[in-house]
Amino acid sequence: QQAPVITIDGPGGSGKGTICRLVSQKLGWHLLDSGAIYRVLALAAIHHQIDPSDEEALQPLAAHLDVQFSCDEQGNTRITLEGENVSHTIRTEEVGSVASKIASLPRVREALLRRQRAFKEAPGLVADGRDMGTVVFPQAEVKIFLTADASERARRRYLELKEKGHDVNIGDLLSEIQARDERDMNRAVAPLKPADDAYMLDSTNKSIEQVLDEVLNVCKKLN
Ligand code: C5P
Repeated sequence: QQAPVITIDGPGGSGKGTICRLVSQKLGWHLLDSGAIYRVLALAAIHHQIDPSDEEALQPLAAHLDVQFSCDEQGNTRITLEGENVSHTIRTEEVGSVASKIASLPRVREALLRRQRAFKEAPGLVADGRDMGTVVFPQAEVKIFLTADASERARRRYLELKEKGHDVNIGDLLSEIQARDERDMNRAVAPLKPADDAYMLDSTNKSIEQVLDEVLNVCKKLN
């Protein structure tokens, strides 16, 4: 399939999700939230009481995962697992933490590859994740690595979860985020790291608008 791809990788809370959504809206391109796929798988594992290290059981669960992405009337992404709306339940730090444990299993990652690559369709794709530019779309036209200090990312997560009505503690969030970074950066397969040809962008002291402008500026080379 001939469709250009923009990959935006980075740690949780760096602003990837928001920026990817805005870029995809601006360009009218498809959006892949790959973290949501790992989160839905984590939720399915919790439902089926499968241990996050049980690769034998998780591989078929990943291969046959019944996850659907659609758009509601307000333009928000709606994510369903076996027909049930899980858009909110997958966003907790607990599910994120199980997702990052599951995500270290090579056969699970392999089972999810084709599903992620199927998002690459005309007119183009904006892909959000950890290994979009390094493993899933190594030929992507534009690769961006978005980071921010861990304390700033914890603060953003706190505000985001609080707004959604979750009861959260900022200190706990910071340690969970740091533990998740550790696991994501140090796993053997597809670790969180910038592609050699990625544009590095630190969002710590930048507004969403500033980051968006910078990303769109990098994307100009697509024209
Ligand atoms: O981005 P998000 O916080 O939703 O991702 C949840 C977890 O899924 C991450 O901590 C990471 O372990 C895993 N993940 C991954 N590869 C991706 C996207 C997410 O390993 N491309």
